Amino acid sequence: MTLAASAVEDRAPVRLAGATRPELFRALAEVGVPDRERNMRVSQLWHWIYHRGAREFSAMRNIARPLLEKLAERHDLQRPEIVAEQLSADGTRKWLLRMAPAFPGDRGAEIECVYIPESDRGTLCVSSQVGCTLNCAFCHTGTMPLVRNLTAAEIVGQVLIARDRLGDFPGGTPPSDGLAPSGEGVRAVSNIVFMGMGEPLYNYPAVRDAIGILTDGEGLSLSKRRITVSTSGVVPEMERLGAECGTMLAVSLHATNNGLREKLVPLNRKYPIERLLQACRDYPGASNARRITFEYVMLKGVNDTPAEARALVRLLKGVPAKINLIPFNPWPGSPFECSDWETIERFSEIIFNAGYASPVRTPRGRDILAACGQLKSESEKLRARARMMLEASLIVGQD
Ligand code: SAH
Ligand code: SF4
Repeated sequence: MTLAASAVEDRAPVRLAGATRPELFRALAEVGVPDRERNMRVSQLWHWIYHRGAREFSAMRNIARPLLEKLAERHDLQRPEIVAEQLSADGTRKWLLRMAPAFPGDRGAEIECVYIPESDRGTLCVSSQVGCTLNCAFCHTGTMPLVRNLTAAEIVGQVLIARDRLGDFPGGTPPSDGLAPSGEGVRAVSNIVFMGMGEPLYNYPAVRDAIGILTDGEGLSLSKRRITVSTSGVVPEMERLGAECGTMLAVSLHATNNGLREKLVPLNRKYPIERLLQACRDYPGASNARRITFEYVMLKGVNDTPAEARALVRLLKGVPAKINLIPFNPWPGSPFECSDWETIERFSEIIFNAGYASPVRTPRGRDILAACGQLKSESEKLRARARMMLEASLIVGQD
């Protein structure tokens, strides 16, 4: 690597909303803050950015103006751009977000982020990549042409936007048109699920850094137990996730034998069911009190027989598991249909009788999803995706 290249890589990012502590440290070094002061200044910036939700350097009242001016010359506290916001009658909110251009001429990748308020929690479903390379047969994201990893800042940016819009930072005003969870000390955004676009464990370093920022007790302070990372089964990264991040795990199983799972989730050829389940048994921190969620998409005539429900129960014996059945969300040209409601009920009853509680949840936010149909066609993929995200995230019950 040339000196010039390493100098560029070592520079702090322009946008400091979403930055890690080392990145803030670098930003301070670049503007000439002496070494001995930097840790203290990092803590101050951290508090303002993540605890207080500052969007301008000038709001940071306990930091001297000349330093703030120097920071503002090179950096900003902008979030991804909100292209559209939609609100469902039941309080579900959906944002279409445009990331800053990643290279000259880039229009900026677009992703969606969905917020689902319930009485005792507020769940935000975030994306980890734009598109996905894994091509699961039933998933629309896999067909998107553009694929890139989101940075940790872009992942955290989704949470900052939700907190901004929901008035969830100190002194913020909750929107008058929305619903929020109630109860002592419950934040509007109390839970995060990595169930938006992308495979989080194919973007592990950024996901890990983002989780570090989200769970830092001096900032956003989200509980690790209230963050769930969903994977299609990237076995080698699962242990790291548990050991380094300590979050809850959800696994997209969708089939009970390798033949079918290979067709639905092609990654199964690399990491077959036996290896995947072993990685679940070994997942650091998994216990009956901290169960792994197994997602199972209900595909008509494909994986929805009572025999498969029984096979699922047998397969998960000895694994601390919960099972969530996800009604399939069709998208234009998708080769599958959603199982009939009676079929889902029969399947769910077998699972219930085996000791797993209420595995299907009623989807919400259908009205804004329908309203999405009125958007321009270039947003079509995002529409299908958002529908999926909403339902999938609703179905994962978090304790
Ligand atoms: N890539 C990760 C996380 C994002 S997908 C993963 O695959 O786990 C979140 C969940 O939605 C996964 O369980 C995924 O299998 C499921 N899903 C994808 N497309 C779907 C669709 N069209 N209908 C219902 N669920 C879908
Ligand atoms: Fe990627 Fe998950 Fe969709 Fe599979 S289901 S293509 S892993 S986003």
